Amino acid sequence: MNATTDRPVEKASTARRFAGGVLDALFPRVCVLCRSADCADVHLCSKCARAFDLASAEPFCPRCAHGVGPYGVQDGRCHACRDKRPWIDAMVRVGAYRGSIGLLVRKLKYCGRDEIDLFVAARLAESMRLSAWFERIDALVYVPTHWTHSLGRRYYAPRVLTNALSRETGLPIAQVLRRASGGPHQLNVTRSRRRDNVRGKFGVIAGTVIDGARLCLIDDVSTVGATINECARTLKRAGAAVVYGAVIAKVNTESGFTASVH
Ligand SMILES: [Zn+2]
Ligand SMILES: [Zn+2]
Repeated sequence: MNATTDRPVEKASTARRFAGGVLDALFPRVCVLCRSADCADVHLCSKCARAFDLASAEPFCPRCAHGVGPYGVQDGRCHACRDKRPWIDAMVRVGAYRGSIGLLVRKLKYCGRDEIDLFVAARLAESMRLSAWFERIDALVYVPTHWTHSLGRRYYAPRVLTNALSRETGLPIAQVLRRASGGPHQLNVTRSRRRDNVRGKFGVIAGTVIDGARLCLIDDVSTVGATINECARTLKRAGAAVVYGAVIAKVNTESGFTASVH
């Protein structure tokens, strides 16, 4: 290689080193989960990375994202959603809501740090790309909150996550969904009452046309699936052809998936 062709390579590697230095200054290489400085990766230390990879490799149902054992999925459904008729057509998750993934969701909700948003979005994008439907998505829609729930909060995790996910995947955001009324947060309602608590609480923003759209709902955590399923019901009633879901964490519940019947 002669001197002329060496120069662009040198320039590129200098630029990379400079960019790396800037990133290190902006996001110091400490583990986002345990804050250990023993961070081989930009985001996780080796111990947390192993725990996270194990947790996110657990199999789940392609329809409701509930955790499943071997042979737990038949005809695309698991025991949690087999007898239900979910409005959501398919779901992916990063993992179950416990251990390192549960901790990550809590950090996403309450810490508000850019490197956590980027890391979580990258991992959720990975799960979405592994699905059979990733290429079919027209746009992302996050599960909205009512403005009264936003009071006193610095940011809203599903919105921040969706913004980062859009940058990560190149998919546009079409926030056509709004939360029509407040009422008690799902966390303050017993699991058996969660479907009734969200019924009719979402609406499509007036004047938006989503006929035939293939949308992907984004949320940070799904418990019995009542909220994301109600959002899917609202979007389909307004004309959406298909509604997928992508969440960071799914709670594995005894009661399984709480779905609207249609
Ligand atoms: Zn760690
Ligand atoms: Zn299922």
